[in-house]
Amino acid sequence: MQAILSKLGLAAVHAGVFDGEWSGSGPVTDSVSPVDGSLLARVREADATDAETVISRAHEAFLAWRETPAPVRGETIRRFGDALRVAKPELAELITWEMGKILAEAEGEVQEMIDICDFALGLSRQLHGRTIVSERPRHRLMEQWHPLGVVGVITAFNFPVAVWSWNSVLAAACGDAVVWKPSHQTPLCAIAATRIAERVCRETGANPAIFSLVCGASATAGEALASDRRVPLVSATGSCAMGRRVGQAVHARLGRTLLELGGNNAVIVAPSADLELALRAIFFGAIGTAGQRCTSTRRVFAHEAVADALESRLRQAFASVRIGHPMDRGTVMGPLVRRGAVEDLLVAKERLIGEGGEILYGGEPLPRLGECYVTPCLARSRPDLPLVREEVFAPLLHFMRYRDFDEVLKWHNAVPQGLSSAIFTRDLIEAERFLGVSGSDCGLANVNAGTSGAEIGGAFGGEKDTGGGRESGSDAWKNYMRRQTSAINHGDDLPLSQGIQFGDPP
Ligand code: NAD
Repeated sequence: MQAILSKLGLAAVHAGVFDGEWSGSGPVTDSVSPVDGSLLARVREADATDAETVISRAHEAFLAWRETPAPVRGETIRRFGDALRVAKPELAELITWEMGKILAEAEGEVQEMIDICDFALGLSRQLHGRTIVSERPRHRLMEQWHPLGVVGVITAFNFPVAVWSWNSVLAAACGDAVVWKPSHQTPLCAIAATRIAERVCRETGANPAIFSLVCGASATAGEALASDRRVPLVSATGSCAMGRRVGQAVHARLGRTLLELGGNNAVIVAPSADLELALRAIFFGAIGTAGQRCTSTRRVFAHEAVADALESRLRQAFASVRIGHPMDRGTVMGPLVRRGAVEDLLVAKERLIGEGGEILYGGEPLPRLGECYVTPCLARSRPDLPLVREEVFAPLLHFMRYRDFDEVLKWHNAVPQGLSSAIFTRDLIEAERFLGVSGSDCGLANVNAGTSGAEIGGAFGGEKDTGGGRESGSDAWKNYMRRQTSAINHGDDLPLSQGIQFGDPP
């Protein structure tokens, strides 16, 4: 571990605040690995005044960065992507040790960062507005996109670096500076990623404060971002409860939010489905990242014609998952992020039984592996059970049966969250209805592909309690800019819109 930390430039006690300089006046906290309980390193966090200073420095950096031509900004991002390619093995290992996801998924996370850098590089030459025909003679109407300011980025533990990169490299391409408040549970990943960005900025001559960092408690670092008027946009990823608090604080000062919150994602398996394909997608969706993805599959609705077969295959698959050390290439499921997450699963299991659900397999702690390990839990549930409406952030899959397509669509949408969804069917009508206006109400809706594992090219996010935000690909970049509409008069007269005749000043 020491070798990885030193390759990434991390000290045994590292400053957790960066605004061009590394500092931190708050408490020193331990980063403890969920893999084996070992102490990885210690972090000197921010106090309330640190956050204030960081926002000031980031704002100063923004004032110069916004004047830098976008394709020149893109060059810093290109080099950042290259640096990530070089650091990928160490950064992935650090993710695995600090967060617990298996190495293959940690590598995928770093790859996602690299991919979004490529995307943002292209974007840096495509931040174009449009011209619009004017209703007034000899007028031109046009739209421009300008840099917005300092963007606050609050991230969850489960994607300790990728979500930051989705936001920060797009924001940087758009001419913004970013202040990042990472999860309290993964500060080392955040420091490592920021160090790479810092090094690249020093090489290109960009002010490294465009990638600022405040590690610290939600109540200091997080709330400072939410309440500061110099932060016009706060992009927050995490639980629905966090989104409500951050959303209220930002909206109270009429700031903008981009909220990426909890999911409760379902797969419908229709009678015509390719069951092997559905099984593989559900398996990855439910077990991947130990059920700790926002897009994890949490509910399955199987048509009664295929339910018995699918249930027994799932039970078999859950019982034979290779659980163990996430650095071992043969492991499919590593630990949960902390002991409390295992306890949450045990509590949910008891609640489900109390509500009338039935545990088909798992949800058992595995103390011989460590205190954060647990077997994945498969339950036979009903759509009306209160627990089914909640996101339990652990490997718990509710298996349910349906008979009627209209009814299953209703059940599918009858939860507060609206992130990701999927149908497995070969019936064109069902597929189209699922994607149609009265089909899935989620931000992501797939056919014959699972709920988990989105590509960076599309806009990512969800509806209802998931928060309504969209980030990453497509036109999500527009969130990080301010739109300006301009009318240009190249005539000698001053015609008014709507044909209003106003008369001349006396
Ligand atoms: P969390 O809500 O506990 O914390 C997320 C982040 O918010 C952390 O950095 C935390 O310190 C910060 N935070 C909490 N309260 C705050 C406050 N009042 N002010 C400012 N910051 C505050 O979530 P978590 O346990 O880290 O992550 C799991 C949750 O994140 C799940 O609900 C999951 O679905 C969700 N998530 C959503 C997406 C998405 O894109 N929709 C992606 C990843 C995770």
